[in-house]
Amino acid sequence: MKDKRRPRLSFVWLHACSGCEIALLNSGERLPELLNKVEIVHFPLLVDHKFGGEQEFALPEADIGFVSGGVASEEHLALLYSMRRTCRILVSLGTCATHGGVPALRNRWTAAATLETVFGDTSGRATVAAEMPALLDRVYSVDEKVRVDFCLPGCPPHPEMIVHVIETLMTDGQPRLPGKSVCETCPTIRTGEMHRTVRRFLNNAEYDSDEPVEEMRCLLEQGFLCMGPVTAGGCGGLSVPLCVQARVPCRGCYGPVRPEGNQLLDMLNVLASHGVDHRAIVDRQSLLRFSGAHGLLRLTRKTK
Ligand code: SF4
Ligand code: SF4
Ligand code: SF4
Repeated sequence: MKDKRRPRLSFVWLHACSGCEIALLNSGERLPELLNKVEIVHFPLLVDHKFGGEQEFALPEADIGFVSGGVASEEHLALLYSMRRTCRILVSLGTCATHGGVPALRNRWTAAATLETVFGDTSGRATVAAEMPALLDRVYSVDEKVRVDFCLPGCPPHPEMIVHVIETLMTDGQPRLPGKSVCETCPTIRTGEMHRTVRRFLNNAEYDSDEPVEEMRCLLEQGFLCMGPVTAGGCGGLSVPLCVQARVPCRGCYGPVRPEGNQLLDMLNVLASHGVDHRAIVDRQSLLRFSGAHGLLRLTRKTK
């Protein structure tokens, strides 16, 4: 950006949990440095913004806009269109925005079935539901509805990555993601010997809690469904992936390694290539628990 004024940043959340915005606030001493360089013109986590009346969905102009959350309702769609109109650069922030994330789990059911499950009304429009903005037929990622200039996955993205993206876009640069899988950032011991079936994570993995994680055997090799091979890395920053630090398998929350990847198919391929019987997975669709948008999670036959 060539002019001298501070770049204006705008944030909006759709079907989101606020974790992505909290991740930015969690960026430690980088945060005050950043705040000195930018002007934040819209940030619902810090300043409530009621929409409605003549001002409906009128958002301030900004240089860089960040949208977190999946696109689940007509209201989300209107907000998103407003963001696209008012922001020169638009970033989808977090796995809900880039791949549907947790909200897209509902894509296995119709909107009416979801309302019925939540509000217990057979018409699909209970009293509370009638007050809600109309649901879309399914939950979409942001790039399915508008042009997106940069996608930053993560649930939430690592604070350092959010700051890196902001600072790079402020100078009209191109941010860089690690481009590695979780496995490529994981220091556990791999022997090449795989457990031949998938073990449910009902018991702890085998490790010595007095030993560093570097001494633990790979959880996938132990037979646990660790999605590290098919999940984008970066959750631990320069350190060990977060779940592996806690000695539990990766659940896939950064979405696929390649933006257009399919974590379900990719994981089944990984298992098959190691001779593991994937039929032991109780619910294969659950491998898309963070990336069900882009038409990947579809209606189950019962609710079609
Ligand atoms: S990506 Fe994760 S942290 Fe961000 S809004 Fe979605 S659920 Fe919350
Ligand atoms: S499968 Fe899991 S435990 Fe094994 S190397 Fe990959 S991330 Fe680490
Ligand atoms: S290890 Fe996997 S599930 Fe855990 S935080 Fe990292 S990307 Fe997400």
